[in-house]
Amino acid sequence: MTKTKRIVIVGGVAAGASAAARARRLSEHAEIILIERGPDVSFANCGLPYFIGGEIKQRDALAVQTPQTLKAMLALDVRTSTEAVAIDRTGKRLQVRSLASGTEEWLAYDKLVLAPGAMPLRPPLPGIDDPRIFTLRSLQDMDRIKAAAATAQRIAVIGAGFIGLEMAEQFVHLGKQVALAEMLDQILPPLDHSMTLLMEDELRRHQVELILGDGIESFSGEPSLTCRLKSGRTISADLVVLSIGVRPDTALAKAAGLELGPRGHICVNGFMQTSDPDIYAAGDAVEVKDFVSGAPRAVPLGGPANRQGRLAADHIFRPEQTKPYTGALGTAIVRAFDVAAGLTGWSEKRLLAAKRPFRSVTVNDNHHAGYYPGAKPMLLKLLWEPETGRVLGAQATGFLGVDKRLDVLATAIAGGLTIDDLAQLELAYAPPFGSAKDIVNLAAFTACNARDGLVTPIDTISDDPLVQVVDTRPGSLVQAHPLTQVRSINIPLTALRQRLGELDRNRPVVTVCAFGKTAYFAARILAQNGFQVSTLTGGIRAHFDPRTPAKLPTP
Ligand SMILES: Cc1cc2nc3c(=O)[nH]c(=O)nc-3n(C[C@H](O)[C@H](O)[C@H](O)COP(=O)(O)OP(=O)(O)OC[C@H]3O[C@@H](n4cnc5c(N)ncnc54)[C@H](O)[C@@H]3O)c2cc1C
Repeated sequence: MTKTKRIVIVGGVAAGASAAARARRLSEHAEIILIERGPDVSFANCGLPYFIGGEIKQRDALAVQTPQTLKAMLALDVRTSTEAVAIDRTGKRLQVRSLASGTEEWLAYDKLVLAPGAMPLRPPLPGIDDPRIFTLRSLQDMDRIKAAAATAQRIAVIGAGFIGLEMAEQFVHLGKQVALAEMLDQILPPLDHSMTLLMEDELRRHQVELILGDGIESFSGEPSLTCRLKSGRTISADLVVLSIGVRPDTALAKAAGLELGPRGHICVNGFMQTSDPDIYAAGDAVEVKDFVSGAPRAVPLGGPANRQGRLAADHIFRPEQTKPYTGALGTAIVRAFDVAAGLTGWSEKRLLAAKRPFRSVTVNDNHHAGYYPGAKPMLLKLLWEPETGRVLGAQATGFLGVDKRLDVLATAIAGGLTIDDLAQLELAYAPPFGSAKDIVNLAAFTACNARDGLVTPIDTISDDPLVQVVDTRPGSLVQAHPLTQVRSINIPLTALRQRLGELDRNRPVVTVCAFGKTAYFAARILAQNGFQVSTLTGGIRAHFDPRTPAKLPTP
């Protein structure tokens, strides 16, 4: 008779619960023990901000599973309020401690899965221990913040990453005065700056006091808390939420001598095995292969954590059939009020920092056919490898349909598609859903045109007085929305062929328009008439007026 396998899993939320559930589906006979330090398992951490803000009404909805349902459905031995404290790798045992009674015991394992996640950063700043300063990771953190917010008037959110933005939005929904401070000079640090402007505008439109380029230095004061920033500026608040990043919860793995990466993440191979092949690790605590570069990278996101936990269980029970982890793209999205923004793959700043060759275009179009009611503008940035045309990354921001484009582009990167492939991509189209030439196609057309030298896209307009900036919008539009930021001459596209004589062929020309489309058409006319011409990528609206939908000719 074959011996029953015993799988012990540390961490009972995203990666740990996924590993446990998959393990049970693959083996009805395995003994599966789930160890969780907190009182809850398998809860929806991503939903925590929305319960605080009241968008999710039922607290129970966040408990995706309970120890009881996991036991009933999956026959798991779930031990909550229990901490894993030591690993004896030679003896293949895990030491656990009951947080209620303090009793300790050793659990033998055949395979151990570590899914301990990451904890919010809480740097040792003066005043950091003030009880009005919160971080958000667990249901208990959520309850504490919700209770404190009930009586708070003014709330400071420190850190304008994904969670910081969600919290700021939810506090505004609660009618609070919200200040959002970020050390970098932009919100959403993983994105390129220009792709965050629409959301910055949206935050300000909702009276969020946005403070950029100013990190937190200390906290002090009574009765209200004073947050002092590096510049000397202060924010007075009744409650502070710190969301400045996370660090892997890997003390246990470190003490056991497992190989760790430079920032303390557990190193794993493609099957989620650590440096000890009987110990697997998954989720926020690990660094995995980056899809684009192949180098190790930590990607603390829910999707990867769930899939990695599943993969670990697969490899435990079906090693032969298991396909290795293909790598993380870091696909992420966030909403603040009516605006969404997100990315997949590599950003321009990441590519620049890695000194990796790339080209990029930014296009601006409606999320569905412009003539169909409700069209909303969207900005999409596409980055690709010059030599192969392979897509390296994409970012999108807009009001509707941002998620769909990011998902298409994430799939494209995962499939190794090129800008030529994207130009040919056949996507679902009817006027309420998209355009006959979807913005993804449009970005690819522009990219192919740039590669083929049919257009020279630029991101900023030079202030060189020799440069002739030609605004190709209709005169009425220019009157209504004048381009005040640069000196320009208005030659509407329809008049350009007749008015070529107004331009000097010996001086460079930049064409601009609302969305970048007519400026491109104009550039083609000019280039074929001997002008040296470049085009403002994404159009004026990407830079100055991103809210108004375009009235463009539609097929
Ligand atoms: C507020 C918030 C919003 C988020 N929103 C999103 C989102 O919208 N999209 C997205 O992709 N991701 C989001 N995330 C990130 C996502 O939740 C994480 O990437 C994911 O939960 C990581 O899963 P994990 O299993 O590695 O860690 P966790 O889900 O954190 O679970 C780890 C568990 O291990 C337990 N543990 C640790 N050490 C021990 C030990 N020694 N003994 C016993 N138990 C231990 C911990 O108590 C914890 O419960 C959000 C996270 C937060 C906090």
